[in-house]
This record gives sequence, C-alpha cells and structure tokens, in this order.
Amino acid sequence: MGEISGEYEVVVVGGGIMGSCTAYQIAKRAKSVLLLDQYDFLHHRGSSHGESRTIRQTYPEEYYSAMLDEAFSLWEEAQEEIGYRMHVKTKHLDMGSIQNKKLQSIIQVCRKRGIPIEVLNSEQVSERFKVIKVPSDWIGVVTDIGGTLRASKAVATFQSLALKHGATLRDNAKVTEISIGCKLRDGSDGVLVCTTRGSVLGRKCVIAAGAWSQKLANEISGIELPIQPLHTTIAYWKIQEGLQSFLPENGFPTFAFHGDPTIYGTPSLEYPGLFKVSVDGGYPCDPEKRAFLPDLDLLREKVSPWLAESFRGNVMSESPVIAEACMYSMTPDEDYILDFLPLTKTEMSTAAKSPILIAAGFSGHGFKMSPLVGRIMADLALTGEAHGVPLHNFSIERFLQNPKGNTKDYE
Ligand SMILES: Cc1cc2nc3c(=O)[nH]c(=O)nc-3n(C[C@H](O)[C@H](O)[C@H](O)COP(=O)(O)OP(=O)(O)OC[C@H]3O[C@@H](n4cnc5c(N)ncnc54)[C@H](O)[C@@H]3O)c2cc1C
Repeated sequence: MGEISGEYEVVVVGGGIMGSCTAYQIAKRAKSVLLLDQYDFLHHRGSSHGESRTIRQTYPEEYYSAMLDEAFSLWEEAQEEIGYRMHVKTKHLDMGSIQNKKLQSIIQVCRKRGIPIEVLNSEQVSERFKVIKVPSDWIGVVTDIGGTLRASKAVATFQSLALKHGATLRDNAKVTEISIGCKLRDGSDGVLVCTTRGSVLGRKCVIAAGAWSQKLANEISGIELPIQPLHTTIAYWKIQEGLQSFLPENGFPTFAFHGDPTIYGTPSLEYPGLFKVSVDGGYPCDPEKRAFLPDLDLLREKVSPWLAESFRGNVMSESPVIAEACMYSMTPDEDYILDFLPLTKTEMSTAAKSPILIAAGFSGHGFKMSPLVGRIMADLALTGEAHGVPLHNFSIERFLQNPKGNTKDYE
C-alpha cells in the first residue's frame, strides 16, 4: 500500500472521456477530486481517442433521445467556458430498409418528441445527397440535429476545465486495489485507492475505466458485470471525385446505414480529402493482451464493397488510407451501466448505496452523452441521487432480473 499521499472527496479511476467529464463536474462544484489514469493522459489504448465521434438524437429508445437534450446543452456550456468548439454541427442521415424496426422506432420517437425529421425515399436521398445511393426499397431519415465531436480534443478540454476548477490529475498511475473500511481525517468511512504511484483516500470512488471496468469491479466485489470489450477499427477513406459534396458546409451528413452490418460515417472534416467510414462492432478482446493493429481485412470485406456501391465510384474503396484500433465495451442490451457498485454478490439486489460507483459499458455510443454522464456521476457521488434521468435503465440490477438486460420494443 505504501504511504497515503492525499485525501479527496472523490477519486475518479479512468481518464477517458467519462472520467474526465466526471472530474470536471465534481471540481466545478468546488469539491476535491483526483483523476487517475494508468497510462499517459490522451493515450490511444482505450475508447476515447481519435479525431471524431458522431452526435445525433435519432435513437430508437426514447430515453436516450430525451437525455440528448441535456447533453447538447452541456456540450454548449463547456464550449463556452473553454472558448473552443468541440461540436461541429452537421445534418444526420439514418438509412435502412423500409421494414427495419430500428429505423421505424427512430421515426416514431422523433415524431413523438417533436424532433424535426424528413423521411425520404431512395431517389430523394440521392437528390438531396448527390454522392449517396441507397437500395431502391430503402428510406433515409434526415435531421438537422447532428454533428461530429472532436474526440481527443474533447477529452483534453474536460481535463483542462477540471484542472481549472481545482481537480488534481495524475497519469501513469495504475489503480491496483480499491478497498473500503478506511477512516478519513474527520473519522468518517472512506475508500482506499492504491496505485502504482502511491495510495490515496476518497470519500467516494468512481470507476470509469472503460474496457477495464469489468476486471476492476470483479476484483472489488466478485461480481461479473456483463461487459464485453470488442476490438474495433476507425478508418478514413480517400475521396476521388466530388470532394465538395462530402463537406459538412455543403450539407453532407453524419450517417448510419442500418444494414448487415451497420456502417457509419462522418463528413470530410478532420483530414482534408478523406472521410471516416467504419463498421459497427468488432471482435472480443482482452484489453490487457490485445494487439493494437487495425483490422484491415474486416474493412475490406465489409466496408469496401459498400463504399463502391453507395458512393458511385467517388471514393477509393479498395482500402482505407488511415486506420486505427479502438475498443467498445458492450453490455448485452447495449445500455450503459451508471450505478453504485455492490461490494459483495449478496448486496446486488439491495438498494445499498456503496461508496464505489461505476460508469461503464457504453457499448460504442457513449461519447455524445459524456458531459451528461459526468453530471450524473457527480450527482450520485456527491448527493447519492441524480434527477432527470431514468437510472433504472442503467442499473446493475437489471441483469439480475434478466441476464440480457433491458428488452427493446423494436427488436
Ligand atoms: C471506433 C469507435 C467509434 C465510436 N463512435 C462513437 C460515436 O460515433 N458516438 C458516440 O457517442 N460514441 C462512440 N463511441 C463510443 C465512445 O467513444 C465510448 O463510449 C467512450 O469513449 C467511452 O469512454 P470511457 O471513458 O468509458 O473509456 P476509455 O476512453 O477507455 O477510458 C477509460 C480509461 O480508464 C483507464 N483505466 C483503466 N483501468 C485503469 C486502472 N486500473 N487504473 C487507472 N486507469 C485505468 C484507461 O487507461 C482509460 O484511459 C465509439 C467508440 C469507438 C471505439
């Protein structure tokens, strides 16, 4: 354990986007907070690095769509505070077969919540977005509410803002043990967090350790959270013709193609002459043992033919020109886990509010929500409650009731 080198209201484990947003929200409330990461801050071995992530409100689940209202405002707020734009606004386009239940649910949720959308047939999709072609029995759902987020820059921004509000940031400090039963200076109970750079005490500890969360949680409580890390790849492709049509200022959208597999992409923005297109999903991996190589074979098998077909020869589809490995942390229902971590298996079904909390299992769609996740985790850690969000959807207990988690109407 070594010498205890500090005491904080909250110790946050994990300096990806979720931990950084959580530390920012806690520091902003003038509470002492320590943000720890096992590697250099802004490293490329987790889930939050890279040039961009999509932000969209077109969810088949109404609760995510509703949560986006606050997430958008929190992005705005942070941008104003730092004086730098992380969110580049664009249109968003969902494409799928007319029978696709997920797409039907997206349309229903948008209409119910008053989110302006246009539903286009395949010809109208090609008229609107000159370079895009979809199968004749497919539709496109287009909205003005979308965009890309500058990913690594957003992590750096929330860390800078946390620092500005008084947070302590420490990298290359791997957390090796988290335990309860220690006394704080005022005699109350605290959490001991041991790292490779010494030990600290916290009144609360938030685990936001991405693909490593399951291992940490298991070491603390013996519980196997159903979080499966997946190795996936971000890829950029060269635009050969019609570059102007791929620019966000000319209306090119972020997009999701709900086929088999799901393919997603963003306009030409981060690298001149290139645009991002990747396949949703990947293969199971161990975050400690994985190779950091991008999966070019999968891209050539799944994305290349789709690009050739859907972009009418405007894109060099044989191979991407930039590709980088990344990780998803999947839960069975693809819903997040935002909860108090039970300290033993027997505590799982009780409403006990443990001093250790967890934000994990973001299932490849967490980035857009990260400022709100930070707000929720700060509320839970500092007050024991978080209002305005349906936390039952993100509970650990849901897996006790059904190992597959939440059931989805559209499946
Ligand atoms: C290719 C790809 C595309 C995506 N696209 C989108 C998108 O378009 N829109 C969207 O909303 N989301 C998207 N996502 C998902 C989003 O990026 C993730 O949900 C989000 O980045 C998860 O952040 P995190 O902080 O939970 O995890 P991470 O970024 O992995 O952070 C966890 C951190 O914890 C640290 N850590 C782990 N164990 C320890 C320990 N023992 N001690 C100290 N530190 C530790 C790790 O080093 C790491 O830095 C995408 C993800 C990927 C991979």
